[in-house]
Amino acid sequence: MNRILRFCSSRLSLSIVPLISVQITHTVRPEPLLVIEYRKANPQSQEFSGLAMVAQRLDGKACAAEVEEELLLRIAACKEKGIKPHLAVVIVGDDPASHVYVGSKVRACERLGIQSTHIELAADSTEEQVRDAILSLNEQAGLHGILVQSPLPNHMNEEALTDLIDPVKDVDGFHPQNLGRLVQGRLDGMLPCTPSGVMRMLSWAGIETEGKTAVILGRSRIVGMPQSLLLGAKGVDSTVTVAHSRTQNTAELCASADIVIAAVGRPEMVTADWIKDGAVVVDVGINRVDDTSRERGWRLAGDVHPDVANKASWLSPVPGGVGPMTIAMLMENTVRAAEQSYIA
Ligand code: NDP
Repeated sequence: MNRILRFCSSRLSLSIVPLISVQITHTVRPEPLLVIEYRKANPQSQEFSGLAMVAQRLDGKACAAEVEEELLLRIAACKEKGIKPHLAVVIVGDDPASHVYVGSKVRACERLGIQSTHIELAADSTEEQVRDAILSLNEQAGLHGILVQSPLPNHMNEEALTDLIDPVKDVDGFHPQNLGRLVQGRLDGMLPCTPSGVMRMLSWAGIETEGKTAVILGRSRIVGMPQSLLLGAKGVDSTVTVAHSRTQNTAELCASADIVIAAVGRPEMVTADWIKDGAVVVDVGINRVDDTSRERGWRLAGDVHPDVANKASWLSPVPGGVGPMTIAMLMENTVRAAEQSYIA
């Protein structure tokens, strides 16, 4: 049995309300990834052969759609018990990308019938104002999830503020109590959405992880570090190396890896020569790069160069890969918090 499935099944058995979404019963099979698609996204590429159809598309959008279908059933079960899952999103300031992300989260709530409360605070708000908002949301009965959109303005201590969120409502999974459980190998709690979304996507595609070598590029609290813990967890059983900005031989490390997960925030840093033939490559990066061929003057690029599709067996696209999975996992954490509220 696929080892990630075992990892997910362990969550199944530990959750009181089962996560029914982990079986690889695809209603939409992952599709082959035409390299030509990547060529279109990157017309400057000189290395494109134009012949290959190599990597399969690790289609986060399709996987997220399946997760949402399953969540609809769980939400209906909550509603039968008189509980409507409810998520509060706090956003401070006017960072355009953050507003786009929050908009996507609110729309996902609408699609699923999850109640959402959207709290916007001005960029010059004080830390105390954000603190008061969080504490008040903690106290609100019938509200199951709280998310504080990152980044917060520079004059605020983001970690101190997210530490204030009640761990049972911490649907981002960043509270030390939830991250601590992850370090202990207890995978039945609130897991950070992006890395758990990557795990779900690997499972969905039937990608084997047991005994595989994995290189994670990036060690952030929200992606790289928890990703390394999830891939190295018992039942998943990859052998994990974490690279960061001070790592000396990043390209060589990647070139020997069966699985490469890039979460650095550097557009197209991972090039085809870094990747072993047949490796699985997950691109977490979301970067805006100038593109004069587009009317808006920019395009989204991942951390992985499109030509990696010539080497990899699987590659997640940007957009349409990890992004939709992050939102799906946020919705799942919110539903889980609502379920726990009637079990508690
Ligand atoms: P951070 O900036 O917090 O962390 C980046 C990490 O990359 C750091 O650990 C840094 O090392 C490391 N790094 C930087 N340069 C290099 C390099 N040359 N070689 C190896 N490692 C390097 O970013 P995040 O983790 O928050 O996000 C990473 C990317 O993922 C971004 O593009 C972000 O937009 C995207 N993202 C996408 C999400 C999605 O839903 N798809 C969700 C969250 C993030 P060091 O620790 O030494 O500084």
